[in-house]
Amino acid sequence: MKIKIGFGYDIHKLEENRKLYLGGIEISFHKGLVGHSDGDVLIHAIIDALLGALGEKDIGQLFPDTDPKYKNISSLKLLEKVMEIVKEKKALLLSLDSVIIAEEPKLSSYINSMKKTLSPILKLKENLIGIKAKTNEGLGEIGEGKAIASYAIALIEAQ
Ligand code: MG
Repeated sequence: MKIKIGFGYDIHKLEENRKLYLGGIEISFHKGLVGHSDGDVLIHAIIDALLGALGEKDIGQLFPDTDPKYKNISSLKLLEKVMEIVKEKKALLLSLDSVIIAEEPKLSSYINSMKKTLSPILKLKENLIGIKAKTNEGLGEIGEGKAIASYAIALIEAQ
């Protein structure tokens, strides 16, 4: 048995009149994240953390943004596919931690629903899923509300 760690990062641009999805849930806001999929940066960072821990290719190689079958796909579906790889490799996700960096909207009231949504897919109890939200203190493009970024780290037990 080996304990392995994986790290993921993602950033997407915000645009008016798009739905905002973070952690698999819809967030009430006048802007949404631009992407080939639904632009859910938190799930994308989690996926790259999992793939990194497994020593697999990254999200962009696994789900190319040139492939029409991933157009507007829910990132929850992509996460389900990655959890199938975790299962195939007989790995076990032990815990996960993450940060969302968004100037707006305030996300604290959504964190529990994100954990509830992700928990059955990750097969991880909610208390083993960390999701924190913070602003960028008004600095840079994230601080100006032009983008939302996310970091995630995953601990797995591998064969
Ligand atoms: Mg992405």
